[in-house]
Amino acid sequence: MNKILVTRSSMPDLDEYIEEIKDIWDTHWLTNMGSKHKKLETQLKEYLDVENISLMTNGHLSLELGLQAMNLKGEVITTPFTFASTTHAIVRNGLTPVFCDINPDDYTMNVNKIESLITDKTCAILPVHVYGNVCNIEEIERIAKKYDLKVIYDAAHTFGVRYKGKGIGSFGDASMFSFHATKVFNTIEGGCMCFHNLSYEKELYKLKNFGIKNETVVDGIGSNAKMNEFQAAMGLCNLRHVDEEIQKRKKITERYRKNFQGTEGIKLSPEQKDVESNYAYFPVVIDEKAFGVTRNEIYDELKKYGIYARKYFYPLTNTFDCFNGKYDVDKTPAALYISKRVLTLPLYADLLMDEVDRICEIILSMRKREL
Ligand SMILES: *Cc1c(COP(=O)(O)O)cnc(C)c1O
Repeated sequence: MNKILVTRSSMPDLDEYIEEIKDIWDTHWLTNMGSKHKKLETQLKEYLDVENISLMTNGHLSLELGLQAMNLKGEVITTPFTFASTTHAIVRNGLTPVFCDINPDDYTMNVNKIESLITDKTCAILPVHVYGNVCNIEEIERIAKKYDLKVIYDAAHTFGVRYKGKGIGSFGDASMFSFHATKVFNTIEGGCMCFHNLSYEKELYKLKNFGIKNETVVDGIGSNAKMNEFQAAMGLCNLRHVDEEIQKRKKITERYRKNFQGTEGIKLSPEQKDVESNYAYFPVVIDEKAFGVTRNEIYDELKKYGIYARKYFYPLTNTFDCFNGKYDVDKTPAALYISKRVLTLPLYADLLMDEVDRICEIILSMRKREL
């Protein structure tokens, strides 16, 4: 039986990659901002429609160093309905995460709850465009301006997404993209920070290389987050095909939507106004009362057929063992409700329509059995 995993990494033809890496054998330049790194940076700046960009070895370090470059102190308002990285980047910077609840319909930060969480220690808002769903950008901007807060978006899920015709990474003070193997666009591992303020450019360049300013001066407590030439070469290849891949994802998403249309107890993500989507994920929220079976039962049943859906995002980051009960999950009830019921179904460019139909059939037949 062929296994179907939640995602499958995009790869160029082997010949295309070999062609791309060939000249590395002439230059012997493997990392430290080489020519492929520079070329990819230029191409991504244009593709993502952003002013400034700094490539890194992964998305997490982009976010971590992005926060460090802003020299923030105090509390950061964020969401617990995300990948571990978002919260860890805050805590590892010595900042305090303050968890805001999410919207029950699109799972992004509930902007009506932000202002009541602001204190004199609040320095920034770190929302997530979760599953590729765009946050309420206008309202977040309004609040940030009113209270003089920085806005950093975790845009890991929104590669190529456009909002009102503009690149999603051009909003807020900065946005982080992830180019991890499992994302819509990958450089094997990789990521970037996009930003407006040019002063972050030098700072990030330094911080991703140990804080080294020049041969004799090290004036930052940096990390090592440089993207190497083989990663950049993968990016140059994958970028040529990403639009085509997004179109394939769109067709698969439409098939899922059609198959589940009008099914009571299965809630789908909304199609957002003014948003050009990248069809990154296909989350469904199972209401066990209306559907007859729980999310966990569906997850287990799919597994029997070799289909591996994921409970993204469960558990919530504010319930992680590493935080020893420090955060009160009762303050984010909508996030808790969704995390217990959400299931992310397989979605990648090469997923076959027959496979989509089979996945839907298995799920829908469970409902019949119960009724
Ligand atoms: C993937 C992801 C990250 C981290 O990106 P890496 O490139 O894997 O380090 C951060 N936030 C979210 C929401 C993600 O999905």
